[in-house]
Amino acid sequence: MCYTKESLDALTGRFGCPVYVFEETAFLNNARSLEGAMRTYYEKYRIAYSFKTNYAPYICKTVRKIGAYAEVVSGMEYDLAKRIGFPDEEIIFNGPCKGAAGDRAFLNGAMVHADSLDELARLCDLAKMREERQFRIGLRVNIDVGQGFVSRFGMDEEELSQAFQMVSAVPNLNVSGLHCHISRCRSKAAWQRRMETMLVLADRFFDKAPAYIDLGSGMFGSMDPAFAAQFDHAPSYEDYAGVTAALMAEHYPGKDAPWLITEPGTTLVSRFVDCISSVQAIKTARGHSFAVLDTGVHMLGETCTLKQLPVRVVPCGNPQHQFDAVDLTGYTCLEQDVVYKDFSGKLAVGDYVVFGNVGGYSNVLKPPFILPNCAMIAHTESDEYVLVKRAETGEDLLQTYIF
Ligand SMILES: *Cc1c(COP(=O)(O)O)cnc(C)c1O
Repeated sequence: MCYTKESLDALTGRFGCPVYVFEETAFLNNARSLEGAMRTYYEKYRIAYSFKTNYAPYICKTVRKIGAYAEVVSGMEYDLAKRIGFPDEEIIFNGPCKGAAGDRAFLNGAMVHADSLDELARLCDLAKMREERQFRIGLRVNIDVGQGFVSRFGMDEEELSQAFQMVSAVPNLNVSGLHCHISRCRSKAAWQRRMETMLVLADRFFDKAPAYIDLGSGMFGSMDPAFAAQFDHAPSYEDYAGVTAALMAEHYPGKDAPWLITEPGTTLVSRFVDCISSVQAIKTARGHSFAVLDTGVHMLGETCTLKQLPVRVVPCGNPQHQFDAVDLTGYTCLEQDVVYKDFSGKLAVGDYVVFGNVGGYSNVLKPPFILPNCAMIAHTESDEYVLVKRAETGEDLLQTYIF
């Protein structure tokens, strides 16, 4: 988004500073372009949005506008998906520790993916106790796509074959699909290996085609050019589609073809939330310059410590100084709360600093540490700004303590 001093004065005047801004139109366009790239090769493709990445209800509702499914990993997220209006058939329930909510979702007909044989055994028992009804289950598989570590999630081929045996002993239960998800492994080659491995497993374990193959998440998304330049060769959606959807089309030419699902979180949302902050103080200590902002690493998310987020300074009119290397620091009392190292440019106290790419693992990961979180607004498709999360108060954070 383009911001001017006047537009930022107006927004922060209404909603406070700092404030998160969700860009709805750009978010939808990006989601549609991912869908479009995949559907060019394979019509039966579907997005399941990863709630944990950013479960702001407004964003989850926006996802529903394009017919995407919900991907949840806890009872809290499952209940939220239901409250927003996702029917059970459109909710994928992943995660290693679902608790009672996993059982509830299974009985309600959600797409529950068992992560372990122990979990599967419990769900088999639930099905057996209800002979008159038909149930389905998905299985999370543990595969190696060259990620360089052993994932702790899912069942490897040996356990998978036990899982299929367990399910075949339950007449009213069947395995409807296979799921995998490997984080920190975003290359095109890794996605091709995922797809190929899943197709081999599907051929080995299913008599007919499964109802779906779910490849999880971990694609690079649309990125601001300055941000994209910090990664080498981030593939495009077309690149990913060429090694996944294209292989599905080849493998399943008939009409009983399975759905292909992916579960984007960061891919969908990261680029489309900004955080507007402002400079509170500028100082020099022992030859090193620091600018203190009213945001921080906990509000912006871990990415700001690993990469340089897209950043724009909007002058407030106070006389600026030119800096070659000023560290932009947060409001906490932690030395490591540096949100941008070695910023070079002009800066004055009172200037706005707008960070981009903070849509994933930011507001949902903000701890109740030192300060409550700021508000979130949405820039809607009808070009209005609406409040979608009010600023937290100290009282909100202290509610659960007994005085
Ligand atoms: C976290 C997670 C996702 C989303 O991952 P991103 O990196 O945010 O896109 C999808 N599926 C599963 C099972 C996850 O645990």
